[in-house]
Amino acid sequence: MPKSPILRVAIPSPLHRNFDYLPPPGCDATQLMPGVRLRVPFGRTKTIGVLLEMDSQSTVEGTRLKAVLEVLDEQPALPPDIMQLARWASGYYHHPLGEVLSATLPALLRLGHALQIRGTRCWLLTETGKAVETSNLTRAPRQAALLRLLQANPDGMIAEQFAEHPGDWQGAMRALIEKGWVESKESPCLTVPDRKPNESPPSLNAAQNEAVTAVCGSLRRYQAFLLDGVTGSGKTEVYLRIIEQVLAQGLQALVLVPEIGLTPQLVTRFQRRFNVPLAVLHSGLSDRERLTAWLMARDGQAPIVIGTRSAVFTPLARPGVFIIDEEHDLSLKQQEGFRYSARDVAVMRAHQAQIPIVLGSATPSLESLHNITTGRYHLLTLPERAGSALHPAIEVLDVRHQPMQDSLSQPLLSLIKRHLAGNNQVLLFLNRRGYAPTLLCHDCGWVAECRRCDARLTLHHGSRLLQCHHCGTQRPIDKHCPKCSSADLRSLGHGTERIEQALQRHFPNTPVLRIDRDSTRRKGALQALLDNVHTGESQILIGTQMLAKGHHFPDVTLVGILDADQGLFGADFRASERMAQLIIQVAGRAGRADKPGQVIIQTHHPDHPLLHLLITQGYHSFAAAALEERRETHLPPFSNLVLLRAEAGNRELPQQFLSEARAAAEIQMMAGIELLGPVPAPMEKRAGRYRAHLLLQATRRSDLHRLLDAWIPCLEKLPLARKVRWALDVDPMEMF
Ligand code: ADP
Ligand code: ZN
Ligand code: ZN
Repeated sequence: MPKSPILRVAIPSPLHRNFDYLPPPGCDATQLMPGVRLRVPFGRTKTIGVLLEMDSQSTVEGTRLKAVLEVLDEQPALPPDIMQLARWASGYYHHPLGEVLSATLPALLRLGHALQIRGTRCWLLTETGKAVETSNLTRAPRQAALLRLLQANPDGMIAEQFAEHPGDWQGAMRALIEKGWVESKESPCLTVPDRKPNESPPSLNAAQNEAVTAVCGSLRRYQAFLLDGVTGSGKTEVYLRIIEQVLAQGLQALVLVPEIGLTPQLVTRFQRRFNVPLAVLHSGLSDRERLTAWLMARDGQAPIVIGTRSAVFTPLARPGVFIIDEEHDLSLKQQEGFRYSARDVAVMRAHQAQIPIVLGSATPSLESLHNITTGRYHLLTLPERAGSALHPAIEVLDVRHQPMQDSLSQPLLSLIKRHLAGNNQVLLFLNRRGYAPTLLCHDCGWVAECRRCDARLTLHHGSRLLQCHHCGTQRPIDKHCPKCSSADLRSLGHGTERIEQALQRHFPNTPVLRIDRDSTRRKGALQALLDNVHTGESQILIGTQMLAKGHHFPDVTLVGILDADQGLFGADFRASERMAQLIIQVAGRAGRADKPGQVIIQTHHPDHPLLHLLITQGYHSFAAAALEERRETHLPPFSNLVLLRAEAGNRELPQQFLSEARAAAEIQMMAGIELLGPVPAPMEKRAGRYRAHLLLQATRRSDLHRLLDAWIPCLEKLPLARKVRWALDVDPMEMF
């Protein structure tokens, strides 16, 4: 009888190794394929792992191997290409393979649910139903209300959307179905059910044509393209045309966007253009919806997959092209747990799959611009706004010595007035939500601080709470100073809530809409606000960086950036790059053909060299100068960084651990690598934990990886390794 084979299994655990098991009793192990999920005993519990390979003998000696408890899949949950990608990502980011694989699986699969598509029930009006006059239904008010709702939502509605509807809507719905006015169906996908696409595409301009031709000329082989085009230059149109050709070849397209909740307009555009199922993967989905979308992508039923960061690992039956919109965006980087850059993983995946990838942005990251210089990416430029829209004019407004009213200078207020009088909309940007960032006692100087973070509490007027934006702590606003009992507590500084109030005072007859995380928390709230903007007449919009992303507001003619100074002096070496991107992105929201835009930047530092360069010469001159600075200071992309982060409940442990770690690295040390630190993180205490880090900097990436391979096993054996929480961040995007 042949010896029972060994199953090598990846298990989600912080340990950098895989685990060996015996097949479950009675199982024909030769039938098992890598990528199937297995339920296994692990320590004192059970967990779910993924089969990596079979071996004739175990690498673990001496101990008795345990048997797998259950084989969950007949067919692999994860196809070979995703297994391969996960192995690469685990190696590159030095993160345990079990956790990487687990991150690629939808939550229900991680929990052991079956690989099965179950649809979402959705209700929509029949032709007769559409013609019903709801005002004739006075004796059935509940039915009338439902009909009105469905008439307002011709694409159909799902149960969740009726949740706010009082009473027994199911009963009323049954009555409507019996009357033949409403039909219900299982929609396996998350998008609009069958509807004829109704958008006729514009004819492409020369630059767009060139871009589409270049990418489509590279189908079925790897090439990375950077699509560099100002906001409104028609990048999305280029994506749509490329996808059209990809679909015509029977292939699938994967589109990654920074945050889908912020770009409902993008999804709508795809729905209008293509009459195919669209799998949309974003954080707002239920687990069931996510699994359905994932399976439809994997099995090829959804030709187009749109998702946020983690969708980069979505299996595709026939990958044809990857598109990363806003490739510079920070949200493409996962900042905790398995820290990866979805952009960089996508580039590697395109390489493995031998297909083209398009990275689009109006403000490309310095890394990507550098990759153009080295020839790694191919540059496609859209120099002009599509149609006949003009670039907005950007001006600096020196606010030194200016009397300010709630962060608004007199010249800006006059401009707002002028633009509103012309029946236009005005957009004001301030990257600080809440009412005021500080609550101060005027008598003793006490400041409301978070007990768990090195940070102040933000005053929120709407919720009447003091909130910490770093750990989420909140408490009622103090009425008296906890230190001296004075009642003279003052709110200092400005957040969007306060500006909203001030604007309402200055312009009592103009609606002011605030768009930030607080005002859009409720499901559908953002969409409602945006609809309002698009149908409204003259209005003022005030918001945070949520306003900078994706949306286009054609009736906005004036954009005001209330405070550019925050970004000029950040501790992070990427601060100026971020500031420049934000300014250009916000500026790009305004203007169209018949209504050219004007952009005003309030600053106390009108002579700041990078700001000056950005405004007079544009983003690319800024980027060239910033890259030169990076070269001189030997920072990415001219070097490679890895951050070893550690945190613990007391201040000393993380630093001690990192000192030991440093000593361990010095033994392995090779030329071309530098160790910096350990130092406390810029915000040392956060959510009750103290944080510190050690930075590794190397000219050659391969040296760094060699060092890490030798170093990590030593780190795991350090006495303090179990007393602190530590993690590696390869290519860190934020230094705190
Ligand atoms: P971006 O993604 O670069 O911001 P979009 O693709 O959204 O640009 O294009 C901006 C606007 O211009 C959209 O309303 C789009 O329909 C329109 N547009 C795009 N390409 C063309 C074109 N070739 N001719 C006319 N209008 C166009
Ligand atoms: Zn006081
Ligand atoms: Zn806090």
